[in-house]
Amino acid sequence: MPILVMKFGGTSVANPDRIRRAAKRVGVEVAKGYDVIVIVSAMAGKTNELVGWVEETSPLYDAREYDAVVSSGENVTAGLMALTLQEMDVPARSWQGWQVPLMTTSAHSAARIREIGTDNIGRKFAEGMKVAVIAGFQGISPEGRVTTLGRGGSDTTAVAFAAAFGAERCDIYTDVDGVYTTDPRICEKARKLDRIAFEEMLELASLGAKVLQTRSVELAMRYHVKLRVLSSFEEQSDEAGTLVCDEEEIMEMKPVAGVAYSRDEAKLTLMSVADRPGIAAIIFSALSDAGVNVDMIVQNISEEGRTDMTFSCPVGEVPRAEAALAAIRTEGRLNFSEAIADRNVAKVSVVGIGMRSQSGVAAKMFKVLSDEGINIKVITTSEIKISVLIDRKYMELAVQALHDAFELDKAD
Ligand code: ADP
Ligand code: ASP
Ligand code: MG
Repeated sequence: MPILVMKFGGTSVANPDRIRRAAKRVGVEVAKGYDVIVIVSAMAGKTNELVGWVEETSPLYDAREYDAVVSSGENVTAGLMALTLQEMDVPARSWQGWQVPLMTTSAHSAARIREIGTDNIGRKFAEGMKVAVIAGFQGISPEGRVTTLGRGGSDTTAVAFAAAFGAERCDIYTDVDGVYTTDPRICEKARKLDRIAFEEMLELASLGAKVLQTRSVELAMRYHVKLRVLSSFEEQSDEAGTLVCDEEEIMEMKPVAGVAYSRDEAKLTLMSVADRPGIAAIIFSALSDAGVNVDMIVQNISEEGRTDMTFSCPVGEVPRAEAALAAIRTEGRLNFSEAIADRNVAKVSVVGIGMRSQSGVAAKMFKVLSDEGINIKVITTSEIKISVLIDRKYMELAVQALHDAFELDKAD
């Protein structure tokens, strides 16, 4: 039998009624002759609630126990989905990550998938089971402990299963009807794309568009998984939603394909650091050892042998960053006058493969922001993206102004 992977996000399984609607969609595919692997998220809001309970109980928590708690939301929806399908006379069985087994690294709360065993589920399909329901987001470490794949990780579970089982397609059902030119929740002119290139989707995801977890796009690209994003709330045809595909399969080629944002960023500046070889290595290895995810970095021109060093990181990691920097100062490995944290910044990025061959995108982006009176604090670029750090209060305005200026509401 051909295999199809269908993933349902939190809002699509938010209560028993929504689970029934999702199960009906699964039933339609079973009736077409597919064996289906269903990946489920926790009910909407559940994972946030679990994370909150962990942080309340133990602010500097043991990541192994964080995973034990936070993975549990998916267990509930997997069992309920299997029961719902059985009630519809569709032969179904649920699996938690460790039962599959879905083997991961030991990096708790951000584990990577190493391998998916296909024997257990394959045998059940051979015996006549029609649907395998898998608790997304979780796996098992080499030490035999439950791990999770980072927030949004059920997308990655889905793509990994599609690759492991050679699925015909991996359908990601969510609360919007596809990938848009920007988040439709903050820009009403956002336009749904019929197709988007893997590389553009990868950039949008890593720059904050949470519709797909970054790692899921990476895996789909590497294993040539046919990946589609669509709504679980609308009747669907085989052409619905957005197909994430190779660049060659796309006709539309604007310089900018989409705008992404990341709301909860912070900027830290180390004032008056000695400008000599090895300083950056000391600062950024200490931050990395402390688990701080540094994103943008700027070093100013030095005056009299001293310089300022600025970097950005997620706002929640500022306490850890400050502690790490204070430690290297106390140990005498680094001298600086002060560390200034700005917790009220956001990152806005424009992304497009077309930028490779068209110049002027950066100039236009900066002009649009300046016309809106928005000050740019830090800039980074790559071949297919430009990102700026700005005051958080201007984030939505910046996204909308850029969306207008690059005419993303219009198809070519
Ligand atoms: P799920 O719970 O189904 O995994 P998520 O909340 O993780 O859903 O992702 C879907 C959300 O991603 C949408 O509700 C939307 O607000 C947001 N989003 C951000 N950028 C985009 C974009 N470019 N296109 C579509 N949705 C986007
Ligand atoms: N439930 C997890 C989260 O909210 C994983 C997911 O939904 O993809 O991050
Ligand atoms: Mg998600």
